[in-house]
Amino acid sequence: MNYIEGKKIENGEESGGKLGFLTRSVHVGNGIDTETGAIRRPITMANSYALPYDPSDLNWSSASGNIYTRNGGANQGYLQEKLASLEEGEDCVVLASGVAALSGVFFALLESGNHIVVSDSTYIAAYRLLNELLPRKYGVRSTLVDSSDVDAVRSAVTPETKLIHIETPSNPTIKISDIAAIAAIAHEAGALLSVDNTFASPYNQRPLALGADLCVESLTKYINGHGDAMGGAVIGRKELIDIIRAEAMVNLGGAISPFNAWLIMRGAVTLPLRVEQHNRSAQFIAEFLEAEDCVRFVSYPGLESHAKHDLAKSQMTKGFGGVMAFGLRGDHEAHNRFVSHLNVITSAVSLGHDESLIVFLGENDERQCLYPDEFHDGFFRLSIGLEDTEDIIMDIRQALRKAE
Ligand SMILES: *Cc1c(COP(=O)(O)O)cnc(C)c1O
Repeated sequence: MNYIEGKKIENGEESGGKLGFLTRSVHVGNGIDTETGAIRRPITMANSYALPYDPSDLNWSSASGNIYTRNGGANQGYLQEKLASLEEGEDCVVLASGVAALSGVFFALLESGNHIVVSDSTYIAAYRLLNELLPRKYGVRSTLVDSSDVDAVRSAVTPETKLIHIETPSNPTIKISDIAAIAAIAHEAGALLSVDNTFASPYNQRPLALGADLCVESLTKYINGHGDAMGGAVIGRKELIDIIRAEAMVNLGGAISPFNAWLIMRGAVTLPLRVEQHNRSAQFIAEFLEAEDCVRFVSYPGLESHAKHDLAKSQMTKGFGGVMAFGLRGDHEAHNRFVSHLNVITSAVSLGHDESLIVFLGENDERQCLYPDEFHDGFFRLSIGLEDTEDIIMDIRQALRKAE
C-alpha cells in the first residue's frame, strides 16, 4: 500500500505558518500507523521493545529510544509531542499522575541546602512535598508566601533559592499570581520558576510563554477531561526535561501506562472545545452565585470582585477556567445539607471532568490559617462540567432552597 507519507504533523509548523491551537489539538502526535494504514495511532501495550543485533552498547537507563516501557514507549511519546506543542515548550515528559509530575520536578532539581519559595495556596501534595517531606528528610528549606503579592515573593528569595513554585489559578482558593513578574524575580536570582497550570489548561494560559521555566499539568483534569484516566506532565526546555525524565520516570519509576496515555491523547483532542464551554458556563454560574443572598462569597477570577481580576484578564487569554470556590451563610451542617440535595452536580473530588463536581472543604483543613478570612468557616470547590448551564443553575437553586 502506498500511503501519503509526511502527513504527520510534528510541531505544527510543517504547513507554513504556525498552526492554530485547535488544529494542533487534533493533529499533533497523531499519524498514520505504517503497518496497517490506520489513521489513528494504535495502543501499544508492550512492556519491551525489540533490541538491536548487538545490544551490549545500549544504555539501559536511557530514555532516548524505546527499550522498556519505563524508559519510554510509543503512546507516551505521541502524548508528549502533543502536550509540548500545546504548552509551547521544547520538550515534555508524561508521568503516572500530576503528583508524579510535581515530585519529578522537585526531586530531580532540588538538593539539600537549596531554598525554595512556594505559594501558600497549592495542591495539597505540593504543600506536603515542599513544606514537610523535602525539608524533614532531605534538608531543603522552604518559605511559604502569598504569591499574589509580587513584593512578598521578591522578599522571600535568598541567594540559596533554587526554585519558585506557584499555581495560578490555585487550588483551592483560586488565587491568581503574576507569572511574568515572578519569572523575572526568579531569573534575577538565578532560580527557576515552575507553574502548575492544571486549573487553566494550556487553552487558557501558557506559563512558558510568560517566562516560566517549567509547566506542570495534572492530565487527570482538563486535558483528559473525561474522569477516567490519571496522568501528569512537565513541559519545558529539553535540558531540564531530560533530567526529570531520567530521574522521575526511569529511576523513580513514575511511568504512565500506555493505555492511560492513549486515553488522555484522545481526550486532549477536544480540549479547546470543552474549555470554551467550561469558561462560559462557569462565568454565568459564578455571577448567579454571587447574586444569591445565602452565598457568603464567591472566588472566581472572571468576577470583578476577584482581587486579581485584571491580572487574570491579561494572562488568561481565552477565559478563566471552570473552577470556583464559594461559601454559604450557614453552619457546617447547612453546607452538607446543600450537597445532599444536588442531583446534577456530583459530590466527589477532582475537577475538569465532563460532569460537574463539588467538594466541601470543612473548617478542619490545617491550611485554613493560610487562607483569607472568608475561607475559614468551610467552603466549596466547584468544578463546572459540560452539562447545560441552566440545568446546573437549576440544580444549585433548588438545593439552596432546600438547605435553607
Ligand atoms: C489534581 C491536581 C494535582 C495532582 O494531580 P493527580 O493527577 O491527581 O496526581 C496537581 N495540581 C493541581 C492543581 C491539581 O488540581
